[in-house]
Amino acid sequence: MSLFGEKCARCGSKTRNKVDGAATCESCAEEMRLMVKAQGESSRPCPVDGAVMKKEIAHMLVIDRCPDCQGVWLDGGELERIKGGVEANALMAMANGFTVPFG
Ligand SMILES: [Zn+2]
Ligand SMILES: [Zn+2]
Repeated sequence: MSLFGEKCARCGSKTRNKVDGAATCESCAEEMRLMVKAQGESSRPCPVDGAVMKKEIAHMLVIDRCPDCQGVWLDGGELERIKGGVEANALMAMANGFTVPFG
């Protein structure tokens, strides 16, 4: 009945966007695309302690997070993106341990 009544299955924000029949806002859809891509890449060891890092998506960036030291590492390509854009702010927020919610 309503044009805006659907809620994103992941974050709950209102959206008309759909992925595979499930309401998914565009931010989450983009994250899901990134996650699928990231999972196709091999995990790297933490440069500090050698633990296998887990892929995470933060602020539309693929990051490697170490489960041991909680260190966050970026792929080379992601760094290039950050240098050129507003995502520098997101990186600063991430480095400071803040999580900025989407939407
Ligand atoms: Zn969402
Ligand atoms: Zn580590």
